[in-house]
Amino acid sequence: MSADSVIPFGFESLPVRGALIHLSHYWRRMLRDHDYGALVTETLGHAAAATGLIAHSLKFDGSITLQIQSRGVLRMLVMQCTSDLELRGLASARPAGDVSIFADLIDDGHCAVTVDNGKRPYQGIVDINAESLSASLEHYFARSVQVPSHIALVANEQVAGGVLLQQVPGRPIDSDDWNRLHFLTGTLGGRDFHGDAGIGLIGKLFAEDDVRVYEPRAVSFRCRCSQQKTEDVLKMLGEAEARETLESEGVIEVVCEYCGRRRNFDAVDIERLFVGNVVRGPDSVQ
Ligand SMILES: [Zn+2]
Repeated sequence: MSADSVIPFGFESLPVRGALIHLSHYWRRMLRDHDYGALVTETLGHAAAATGLIAHSLKFDGSITLQIQSRGVLRMLVMQCTSDLELRGLASARPAGDVSIFADLIDDGHCAVTVDNGKRPYQGIVDINAESLSASLEHYFARSVQVPSHIALVANEQVAGGVLLQQVPGRPIDSDDWNRLHFLTGTLGGRDFHGDAGIGLIGKLFAEDDVRVYEPRAVSFRCRCSQQKTEDVLKMLGEAEARETLESEGVIEVVCEYCGRRRNFDAVDIERLFVGNVVRGPDSVQ
């Protein structure tokens, strides 16, 4: 099994549920067609780990999308994960060189978390504080979902990982225990995710606790772009623009920003796409 997985776990003597996510192969695949700076890469990895952890907790078929917009170097970030743990995402940064401080990366930013259960999507929005994405997401859990949570995220160009701990609703926990777990998750670092993190890491992290580990679930990178969706986008752009591009370029190439897949449309394709739109007046007769 690939190392890319979510491992659920629980504490025998504390009302806390947890999950550990470890992304390596598919995380590098997500980065492959992009050239992000170090801090954008790290933040995208944090978003990937967080989104996977939240998607894992969904109790229905659907997806969760995390979207960040800011006036800082990071203009936009979007990360989506289905309840089957298929992940995709990308970021767009201003060409302002690399930055080293999170507050410069995301200035005046907010994060929208959209949960889509196939019927009625609902969205929670949190401001991103200058500290970190994980602190912002803890606010989201406390305010929008009303489940006290600790989330720790780590990422670099090789791995993205994290741990989410959530209190079991209706069962109070001693604040010393909760603070102790917060401290422990805060010790997670990138080195913990090199090699086989998995169950060993959970045991190491919570060595003093009785932890029960459940069956891991595989996470994969999967883009949901398709020929049909690409054609729909071309149709939305409109016939005039499509024909103009075709005339100057000879072919229309559409590249999926998520997975890098290229799709080409030539004159015949464009003719077929807009066949219903053809209006032949006296001016267009050739
Ligand atoms: Zn794609």
